[in-house]
Amino acid sequence: MDRYSRQIVFSGLGRIGQQKLLESTVAVVGLGALGSVAANLLCRAGVGHIRLIDRDYVEKTNLQRQILYNEQDAEKRCPKAVAAFNHLRNVNSEIVLEPVVAELGAVNIGQIFENADLVLDGLDNWETRFLINEVCHQSGIPWIYCAALGSETMLMNLLPNKDCPCLRCFLSPESGSAAGQSCATAGVLNMATGMIAAVQVAEAVKILTESASEIRNGLFVADLWNNRFKTIPIEKDSDCPICVHRRYEFLNRSGGSRVTRICGSNSIQVSPSKPVQLPLETMAKQLAKNTDNKTKIELHPFMLNFDNGQNCIQIFQDGRVIIENARDETEALSLYSEYVGL
Ligand SMILES: [Zn+2]
Repeated sequence: MDRYSRQIVFSGLGRIGQQKLLESTVAVVGLGALGSVAANLLCRAGVGHIRLIDRDYVEKTNLQRQILYNEQDAEKRCPKAVAAFNHLRNVNSEIVLEPVVAELGAVNIGQIFENADLVLDGLDNWETRFLINEVCHQSGIPWIYCAALGSETMLMNLLPNKDCPCLRCFLSPESGSAAGQSCATAGVLNMATGMIAAVQVAEAVKILTESASEIRNGLFVADLWNNRFKTIPIEKDSDCPICVHRRYEFLNRSGGSRVTRICGSNSIQVSPSKPVQLPLETMAKQLAKNTDNKTKIELHPFMLNFDNGQNCIQIFQDGRVIIENARDETEALSLYSEYVGL
């Protein structure tokens, strides 16, 4: 407990609050600009079990705002969940850190959120947010929506166990995706992501320690560049498909889109048509045997990456493949069948 003394002495938390944090499990989904700040703060604050979930690997353009990574991680294209784990275990070795290199989908989300007391959104896409909204409503897990673009950020506590509004009460999948902007086109400031992720962790600590009267209500919107900070009250929608009708359309979909462009990069991701676990070590050996010496092959936990001179290809253990600089979706799919064949 001594390492947390500066936090325990804070009257809002105390020894009891700290004990609650140590007994909590938090799933951080997405370890980019928001998730890397959130995971860092949760780890130092002594949340006892942190699940670090991300589908992607580190690139040099991430380093401007994703504070858990360094140039070596980008050079090696290390999976973010693994790089985050490697960094954070040296920060706090007394808690459980669990890296999960996977894309959340209807098939695996139940298992990945198992025993979680709280879920933090650090995502860059709406499809997964609506999926989280459904699964958290179904299982009564609180989650904190958080998003950033340019200098604008927003956040809201979504507490299905307290009968509060859900994400679908004020956002529809159509309005979510209609924004159509990404951090590659509109940019994103590290001060903005750092600030809103800190607000998210403050709310997380209040929720986990059951500091009910301090927990924020409504949609918090902050724009650091234009000096605008406001809270918009949100009402429960009396016709909400989730809260009222319990229609879990994202959860009941058999699979998401098979080919997706990764937000903020010129990479294309292809997902397997059914759940798989690829034997990456064997694949690395076969690749080394069947390709020339110029092909660079690197094996990481949960990921294999190689560069054949034309394309840089990341193969994940869960069957996903990310292809950098693929011309189009057809080329991405043909490379997928060439190397993974599913
Ligand atoms: Zn709702």
